[in-house]
Amino acid sequence: MAPELSPFREEVRHFFETDYPQDLREKTQRGESLSTEDVRRSEMALGARNWLATAWPTEHGGPGWDLQQQYVFDEELERAGVPTVTPMGVIYVGPIIYTFADAAQKERWLTPTRLGEIGWAQGYSEPESGSDLASLQFSAKRDGDNYILNGTKIWTSAAQHADWIFLLARTSQEDRKQAGISFICCEMDRPGVTLHPIITIDGKHALNSVTFKNVVVPAAYLIGEEGKGWSYSQYLLGFERTSYARIGGKRKQLRHIRQIAQAEGADGNRRVIDDELFAGKLTAAEIAVDELEMTVLRVLSAVKDGGSPGKEASIIKILATETAQQITTLYLDLAAQAGIRRFDDSVSPDWLSAGQFSAPGVASYFGTRAQSIYGGTNEIQKNIIARRVLEL
Ligand SMILES: Cc1cc2nc3c(=O)[nH]c(=O)nc-3n(C[C@H](O)[C@H](O)[C@H](O)COP(=O)(O)OP(=O)(O)OC[C@H]3O[C@@H](n4cnc5c(N)ncnc54)[C@H](O)[C@@H]3O)c2cc1C
Repeated sequence: MAPELSPFREEVRHFFETDYPQDLREKTQRGESLSTEDVRRSEMALGARNWLATAWPTEHGGPGWDLQQQYVFDEELERAGVPTVTPMGVIYVGPIIYTFADAAQKERWLTPTRLGEIGWAQGYSEPESGSDLASLQFSAKRDGDNYILNGTKIWTSAAQHADWIFLLARTSQEDRKQAGISFICCEMDRPGVTLHPIITIDGKHALNSVTFKNVVVPAAYLIGEEGKGWSYSQYLLGFERTSYARIGGKRKQLRHIRQIAQAEGADGNRRVIDDELFAGKLTAAEIAVDELEMTVLRVLSAVKDGGSPGKEASIIKILATETAQQITTLYLDLAAQAGIRRFDDSVSPDWLSAGQFSAPGVASYFGTRAQSIYGGTNEIQKNIIARRVLEL
């Protein structure tokens, strides 16, 4: 990292350690779920410095940072244990609005999204349309100056914190199913919108299904042209799939794993890192993060003026997922070592208390399993790479 970035890093670190709400850092570090108010408070604290929409170009109100600055910022955010920014607003729909929306829509949504005053959810998937997303049946019927929305969206992340949802909706039946899809926004509190929480195996509420029954929205909530929603949705997925890289978070996890593995007293004088198999796996994971970082920089450096990373984002999505799974599997290995040694008198109590990493570590192992599914499954990404990147 360029030495001239040190003052910038210091400034960001100082902000997270002083001006940023410290109770939210503590809550996140304790692994507690954040309330809607917490999420808004966190994002508005970043927005107040214009540090929320970090990748937006200056002409749309962003800070105009280069890639290196964005990296430093993300690293410091992860280091400080600040909650991850909800991506659906600033990372996903923001670029769609500044690229395809009309002046009134930009006026309505860009500033409050950039400042963290409003939250968004992503309404793509449906009970019968996941990988084959273009088969979606959610309908938007034009009725004068309005659209009437009917249908169900599912796996809608963080919708319980959202004020708005962006939707892919069928506005006409065409031979080519992608052609009849439009991109429409809707407030989450409109009459006829109902949120149904989905509680996952870890007991957490991160997912929902959202039903729409004769929901009336102004036609002015349609972004871009009717029937062009599919191409906007794919543009958005370029941002989404690249955002999974999360290099700073991965490096933080690797440092944590190495620290536990190097701790004395795991088994007499034998440390976990002295196990060659484990040490080899840890080193391979560290190299994988370097490779991921180089791939992200290569793809992003080809993108101009806040544009979408495009089809190459599928490569990042697969690499990021496999690397995340590789790293969190190391937590399982460590947890196994802690389990094996629990009843061994020669093991120092200090090391066993270090084994408290086991629960959050194992939770993150299971969390990263889902990454092969969301944002389009890894199998679908391989199809995209074969057809559109390699043109096979
Ligand atoms: C944690 C989580 C969060 C999510 N958040 C959101 C959200 O906020 N908004 C949203 O809209 N959606 C969200 N999703 C939904 C996600 O995008 C879909 O689950 C995903 O696209 C897969 O669709 P599906 O679940 O219907 O699986 P299916 O499409 O039924 O796929 C089942 C299996 O078949 C394989 N498969 C299907 N078709 C092919 C093919 N042509 N070639 C090879 N293999 C194939 C798949 O790879 C998969 O293994 C989320 C999902 C998860 C798990």
